[in-house]
Amino acid sequence: MTQDMPHDDVVIIGAGIGGLTLALALRERGIGATILERTAELREVGAAVALSANATTLFRRLGVLDALEEVSWAQSDLIFRDGRTGATLGRTPVGATYRARFGADYLGVHRADLQRVLSEAVGSDRILMSRHVTGLREEGAHVLIDLADGSRRTAGVVVGADGARSLVRRWVVGHDDAIYSGRSGFRGIIPTEQLSELPDPHAIQFWIGPTGHLLHYAMGGEGQDVNFLAVSRTPERWPADEWVVPARDEEKFAPFAGWHPAVTQMLGAVEVTQRWALMRRPPLPTWHRGRVVLLGDAAHALVPHHGQGANQAIEDTWALAEELATADPRDPTAAFEAYEGRRRLRTRAVQFASWQVAEVLHLPDGPEADARNAHMGSSSYFEDTLAWIHGYDPTHDSGIRPGRLSR
Ligand SMILES: Cc1cc2nc3c(=O)[nH]c(=O)nc-3n(C[C@H](O)[C@H](O)[C@H](O)COP(=O)(O)OP(=O)(O)OC[C@H]3O[C@@H](n4cnc5c(N)ncnc54)[C@H](O)[C@@H]3O)c2cc1C
Repeated sequence: MTQDMPHDDVVIIGAGIGGLTLALALRERGIGATILERTAELREVGAAVALSANATTLFRRLGVLDALEEVSWAQSDLIFRDGRTGATLGRTPVGATYRARFGADYLGVHRADLQRVLSEAVGSDRILMSRHVTGLREEGAHVLIDLADGSRRTAGVVVGADGARSLVRRWVVGHDDAIYSGRSGFRGIIPTEQLSELPDPHAIQFWIGPTGHLLHYAMGGEGQDVNFLAVSRTPERWPADEWVVPARDEEKFAPFAGWHPAVTQMLGAVEVTQRWALMRRPPLPTWHRGRVVLLGDAAHALVPHHGQGANQAIEDTWALAEELATADPRDPTAAFEAYEGRRRLRTRAVQFASWQVAEVLHLPDGPEADARNAHMGSSSYFEDTLAWIHGYDPTHDSGIRPGRLSR
């Protein structure tokens, strides 16, 4: 029955950041993989990503860092500010000292540029576009993959790198379990030169307050653009099945009324027509079933408050490629178990820290917020909250564990 169908040893479902990086990590181990991507074009216009050293060091190893640096901006500092007054609460240089310590930069990049660099390195012959996977079934030593166009393929191993609303995840665990985090976001990209009120335009900055926060960073080869994510503690309940809903432009201002002019100028500089639900998922009991395994958001989607979703997907790829390189082709279960064992604690800790940081950023005025501000101003803040995330080397399982996660 399976004889006339195209067959691959490894099929990756999803040419997102995780799927593309996995194809490169597998190639490094001599394993060819085919990627099936549902969209016709890899172009997420209007989106960006901040890549920390735990990912950029791996990109150097995979040979794509030089090309990536040409279209990225290395952040100068990480700055926390009071959103209403603009007062600096904490500042950590993340330029030369960060590079010297962690071995690579903290980069801001247009998502379309990142996907272009990665897909060019993978090669178009390995990425099959407009291949929407609609179903999986295991038959003997193969997985049967159904596509929306009615065709079928087979694979020895299938990796579900199909994102936060993963079909493969549902096949592995049997249900969908996204939980609205009680926060939503507005996103936008603005030319840096339009932001006359913005201090430190080439830094990554959090403007914080009880009703929400504004995160932004510089990106593009010349630092010519700023990407922002404005997070509010509204609505209380998410009103739709969709994770992105239409929004009126003026809705974005309400949580930030009376905030510093740099914040209101940034929000006002671009029309926003969508509101993003920030969803979280409880950790899964398992990441694999039979010959199918999950990676990236499909395995451990997290809220974006530490900017770690893509970075964690990238970290996953090295461990999975290493374990698949020694897998028993008759039964990959042991390799999947080993991969999951290497990644479970780390991704759970980052998931938890990402959730917790929003609570900390949105503290009401009072003694707890004062204590947080004092901590942000201390020299240990970066060390306590972020060094264990950014300083992790996925190629060495360096074992840096969570420090003090809270304020
Ligand atoms: C508002 C916001 C801001 C964020 N900012 C950051 C940040 O600054 N830094 C960071 O690290 N992370 C950030 N993230 C998270 C980050 O976007 C994700 O964690 C990351 O993209 C996950 O990579 P992935 O490869 O697992 O999935 P994705 O990048 O989502 O890729 C999944 C791919 O699978 C394809 N696909 C889906 N279903 C199918 C199917 N059935 N058949 C075939 N193909 C399919 C999709 O089209 C897509 O190309 C942010 C997220 C949000 C919502």
